[in-house]
Amino acid sequence: MNILVLGSGGREHTLTWKLGQSKHISNLFVAPGNAGTALIAKNIPIGVNDFEGIKNAVLEHRIQMVVVGPEDPLVNGIHDFFLKDKEIGHIAVIGPQKAAAALEGSKRVAKEFMGRHNIPTAAYQSFTAANIAEGEAFLETLKAPYVLKADGLAAGKGVLILDDLNDAKRELRSMLLESKFGKASTTVVIEEFLSGIELSVFVLTDGKGYKVLPTAKDYKRIGEGDTGLNTGGMGAISPVPFADKAFMEKIHQRIVKPTVEGLRTDNLPYKGFIFIGLIKVGDDPFVIEYNVRMGDPETEVVVPRIENDLVEVFQAVAKQCLDDIDLKVDNRTASTVMLVSGGYPGTYKKGMEIKGFDEISDSLVFHAGTRIDGEKVVTDGGRVMAITSFGNDFKNALSKSYQNIEKVSFDGMNYRSDIGFDL
Ligand code: ATP
Repeated sequence: MNILVLGSGGREHTLTWKLGQSKHISNLFVAPGNAGTALIAKNIPIGVNDFEGIKNAVLEHRIQMVVVGPEDPLVNGIHDFFLKDKEIGHIAVIGPQKAAAALEGSKRVAKEFMGRHNIPTAAYQSFTAANIAEGEAFLETLKAPYVLKADGLAAGKGVLILDDLNDAKRELRSMLLESKFGKASTTVVIEEFLSGIELSVFVLTDGKGYKVLPTAKDYKRIGEGDTGLNTGGMGAISPVPFADKAFMEKIHQRIVKPTVEGLRTDNLPYKGFIFIGLIKVGDDPFVIEYNVRMGDPETEVVVPRIENDLVEVFQAVAKQCLDDIDLKVDNRTASTVMLVSGGYPGTYKKGMEIKGFDEISDSLVFHAGTRIDGEKVVTDGGRVMAITSFGNDFKNALSKSYQNIEKVSFDGMNYRSDIGFDL
């Protein structure tokens, strides 16, 4: 089978690595890919939102399945683009159609969905410039801290958590009247602050059946002890030690089941991953957000723990017979630590030679922002490379990742040395 993976991050390298182990693979392509995917597949220099370019590549390389890594092409309707086109309409696309992708593309849509299906989440209201005064009045009814969310995609930056009521009102005005986050903040969701510990649950669904994948916890802040600016993610572990059987059962009954049933009753076709961002308040799970794809770096710990042939699993998603798959999960712990460019998540340099990663043994190396430059592999983004290891517990797994990181170097290399510190 010929498969195309769309994207260029650590998530896509991990998915490509896993797909490459399948006995069903003939040719594996990644668009646009990175230096890591170039080692195990053929990179095609096409952007993930260039649907015509993707169609041409699919026809040229006789691709039979497209696995969509990031949210952008899903929210922009890549699955619908395939379905509507006679030449490529029969090709399996792993990732939801546009209407369902709005669960990530619009926070208001996600909140309304949760409301309709009684899925526990923070109390909220949404506002536009037309009812900004009501928004300010709603803020006055809440207690600090105040949570303001731009409705649309804002590259993970559209959520503000503010301690002061006046600051919250000012930011609300800036979002609604001054387009602080561009079109993304034409609507703003204001919600109750929930205090607790976060985790992520991943579900793969074919629109009828579903499989709950291993849990993971990521570390978003740049600084040790979860301080400083938010990043795309500095590391992750799977499974999450505090997500015990009883808690997982609550997640299953109160959140996963009603989510998949809700998609069906709302007539939202869905063949792909659902990433459910959760917060544990006391002993109860609440949904913070839905994403319509896998997380990054969570993929780097979740996917290596899946023991099944991933092509068979994706084929079952495409044919809507996922219930026939017996999902097998490695019960060891996986951890990953992300190596990032100096200055990230602010400004940083690209093109730094990365040395030593090929000397790593007993850990997996997943490239993110890397590219090939002649004989060298150089940095090409803020998040550069994830080092994933297995262990009997998360400490053991992390110590392997940290030992192997010692072998890697590039100018300005930075990473968090405290992944898992709070567990
Ligand atoms: P991401 O970068 O994960 O995609 P996002 O921009 O889509 O994030 P959310 O996940 O909704 O936005 O929120 C970002 C972060 O803000 C959450 O991971 C959580 O730490 C915090 N947060 C969001 N909503 C709440 C809430 N109601 N109470 C407390 N913290 C919250």
